[in-house]
Amino acid sequence: MISMQGTGVSPGVASGTLHFYHAANADVRRIVVSDRDAEWERFLAAQAAAVEQLGVLAEEVRQRSGDDAAALLEGHQLLAEDPDLTDEVEALIREQGLCAEAAVMDAGEALAEEFAALEDPYLKERSADVKDVSRRIVSCLGGGSDAAGLPGPVILAAKDLAPSETVQLDKDLLLGLVTAGGSARGHTAIMARTMGIPAVIGAADILDPVLEGKEVFIDGDTGTVIVGPDPETRTKLLEKQKEQRTHAQLLKTLQGQPSMTLDGQSVRVCCNIAGPQDVQAVLENDGEGVGLFRSEFLYLGREDYPDEETQFEAYREVLSALSDREVIIRTLDIGADKQIGYFDLPKEENPALGKRALRICLDRPELFRTQLRAMYRASAYGRLGIMFPMVASEWEVREARAMCEKVQRELKEEGIPFSDEVKIGIMVETPAAAVMSDRLAQLVDFFSIGTNDLTQYTLACDRQNSSLGRFCDTHHPAVLRLIRLVAENAHRHGVLVSICGELAADLSLTETFLAMGIDELSVSPRSVLPLRQKVRETDVSACRSAVSDALA
Ligand code: PEP
Ligand code: MG
Repeated sequence: MISMQGTGVSPGVASGTLHFYHAANADVRRIVVSDRDAEWERFLAAQAAAVEQLGVLAEEVRQRSGDDAAALLEGHQLLAEDPDLTDEVEALIREQGLCAEAAVMDAGEALAEEFAALEDPYLKERSADVKDVSRRIVSCLGGGSDAAGLPGPVILAAKDLAPSETVQLDKDLLLGLVTAGGSARGHTAIMARTMGIPAVIGAADILDPVLEGKEVFIDGDTGTVIVGPDPETRTKLLEKQKEQRTHAQLLKTLQGQPSMTLDGQSVRVCCNIAGPQDVQAVLENDGEGVGLFRSEFLYLGREDYPDEETQFEAYREVLSALSDREVIIRTLDIGADKQIGYFDLPKEENPALGKRALRICLDRPELFRTQLRAMYRASAYGRLGIMFPMVASEWEVREARAMCEKVQRELKEEGIPFSDEVKIGIMVETPAAAVMSDRLAQLVDFFSIGTNDLTQYTLACDRQNSSLGRFCDTHHPAVLRLIRLVAENAHRHGVLVSICGELAADLSLTETFLAMGIDELSVSPRSVLPLRQKVRETDVSACRSAVSDALA
């Protein structure tokens, strides 16, 4: 077994026979022509043919892989007619008498170098596109051969692939893609993602001739490439592949379908995210909104506090990308297991019971104010909800709300736009908040039950301590009764109630939560569709009495 580490650029596990890609021949004749006008006309005809070819291809690819993939080829159409490229070709033909093939390759190479020298990473990547387009024009001049097709279903290995070569490969035969070079921002990676083909780049030794024809697994999530796996690794990878196929099947059948039970009760299935990088996963998995944006991840992995502008940009990015879907951002929840050096938090004997989350924000109003300003400013770009973590007392909510009002007043005075429909909620994750939920419900628009902490504090079981085993029963009736109590109190006061802790994704509790009338379940993006499937198979009226008996 040979294992290599590259970079996963398109998710999924793929397995099959390793096939080496033989790129289109870019060697062109280099001759001096006698009739320069005729050579120029030959170039113009080839240029027009390349543009037409790309248009036809774009339409084909649009049918097979959608608009994004087609847009690449439409971009190539523009490049094929790029005035700089055209002028340079004309100069080389007319002034030096170079044949059209060599003129195109030289002009393309020069333009590609200009792109490669640019700072902007996006423009830098366009260098590969220019080379790709030049090869196509040369091919229309009859000066290059087409790339070989695929011999059957294979994992394709190449040094690098030109974007247009990638989109033209037969999607039904291309099981996965692995390159020795390449870049994660390059179009090859983008195309692989768009086509839904697992891909790994930068597996430097993949083109070792002894590997051709061998069985290979590539993992587009981890970037691992395994050639000739041992039986145990093989079984593991096949299991992961099977789980992914089931998920892909779910995506096909459940995308866009309502999360509604057999007897017509709806629940919103939303996502938990850590930042803008997760928005794509929300969209891909058809999350109905964001039920928990753990904002502390913006503070982690940095040397210093993120300023208002940095936070505003991150919140705005998420809100605008999910424009019509509600996004609940939780204010900073650090302390306990999430320590950040520059906060200089004092060492505590029992950090889970110490200064954490809202307690820090209320004691450091400047920190809180900066975050709330960023959130309210971002509210102009989507549907925002704000929630406070680790609430135990009513006064904490009043004080936090007062800070929201102060921030709103400030922004109004400064003429900075924000939405006046921002919902305010709290996490119910302390037993105190659950027990007081009848009163707390009168202070907020929504509750979100954090079962991770609620379980820890109710059962007195440290969530970081993996040795507690049977003493930490996540289905403990004490926790479930508290959840039911919170749901009852919420509904009595017209407040929406969500669950955003790990328990929300536990399918063995979905019936229980639906019977309690939970309005929203917020889970990691990949859990959305399995949960929606479970909801759609449930008949709440049939399980209601069993649930109340179990909690009696
Ligand atoms: C929870 O406590 O259940 C929760 C969702 O918050 P976190 O896991 O971030 O503490
Ligand atoms: Mg929590």
